[in-house]
Amino acid sequence: MIIRGRTVVTIHGAPIENGAVAVSGNRIVDVGRFDDIKTRNAGNTVDLGEQALLPGLINAHCHLDYTCLRGKISRQKSFTDWIGAINTEKSGLAPEDFLASINDGFEEAKRFGTTAIANLTAFPELISQVQPPIRICWFVELIDIRAPIDLECVGMSALLKRSRRRGIAAFQNSGLAPHALFTASKDLFRRCEAIAQQEHILLTTHLAESREEMEMFRDASGPLYEFIKSIGRRMDDCVGKTPLQLFLGALGDRALPQWIIAHLNELAERDFDLLERSNSKFHVVHCPGSHNYFGHSPFAFDRLRSFGFNICLGTDSLASNESLSLFAEMRAFQKEFPSVSAEEIFQMVTVNPARALRQENALGQIRPGFRADLIAVPCSGSRDVLEQIIAFDGRVCWLMVNGQVHGD
Ligand SMILES: [Zn+2]
Repeated sequence: MIIRGRTVVTIHGAPIENGAVAVSGNRIVDVGRFDDIKTRNAGNTVDLGEQALLPGLINAHCHLDYTCLRGKISRQKSFTDWIGAINTEKSGLAPEDFLASINDGFEEAKRFGTTAIANLTAFPELISQVQPPIRICWFVELIDIRAPIDLECVGMSALLKRSRRRGIAAFQNSGLAPHALFTASKDLFRRCEAIAQQEHILLTTHLAESREEMEMFRDASGPLYEFIKSIGRRMDDCVGKTPLQLFLGALGDRALPQWIIAHLNELAERDFDLLERSNSKFHVVHCPGSHNYFGHSPFAFDRLRSFGFNICLGTDSLASNESLSLFAEMRAFQKEFPSVSAEEIFQMVTVNPARALRQENALGQIRPGFRADLIAVPCSGSRDVLEQIIAFDGRVCWLMVNGQVHGD
């Protein structure tokens, strides 16, 4: 099959005018100018006309469990108040509501051209009931603040079995997500790290997200400190260290490259020294929509990038964002950082998250040998194609996942 578009954005080279991609089975076998592709490859041609053909977008941080909470939680006075509000909302939901939420989330992500999601779920028991229409990396979210966790009892074995199964339903890798330093013990972080090493699975967590998290650990005070203490957590690690210091202290440099760290909004000057000196760089996910909702401190994009961190974009959940559109996230990022090129922003939803998910040789680019995950968005010759992509705010009407076309 040959797919032609006005422009093909491969990521690894300049956009190809009047370009085409040849797909066989679930893989891309050739990419180049339409005339050359036609000469070199057999098969039917699908002409997408005045559209740009792009790699499918990859959402590096999301919680589809909470798709049904869109618009339910108004902006709160504090991060701690938001935690209280989401807990109240969750207590009124049944497993079937979360299942519907996950399925609705997949459909919405797909409508916005997302072909792969790094998704945290608090309900691993629901995974077997979901048939994802796009790729997913399930991260089981773990909290041991109230009771210790037996990792076997949270559906780990089913998850690992599933993660090894080849095919569209899953990446080969799934992962574990100790929720955050204030809800998961140091011991849980270490056990997850050990399992990840052994099973070759991925790891993610929320780190240094809010001012209140910084206040809790560094100053042993503030609303989050009081709330977490009231539910029985030992607070003996709230002794002057920053969240980043505690995280690095719990795991050590060697363990870092496999971690996908969501947020990293609140960093002290000494944290930047540590990050600069660290030889091992983890992956960082910035969620611009959620960041605006909470009003966190400015994200230190320039410094983190200059230290060599792999920076990706994510939507976070609809309990703190309006949509699961990565186009909207790219626009929000561009508003925050107008000097960053459209090309670099587009990399944060394609090649960078592919690297974070250890799929850098399979996803995030249009390249021979890569999986055929492609989308098309309208484009004209009048403006820079990458600027047009970021400005696109409609529904993606043509999408291919693993060689299968999902059209209108
Ligand atoms: Zn999150």
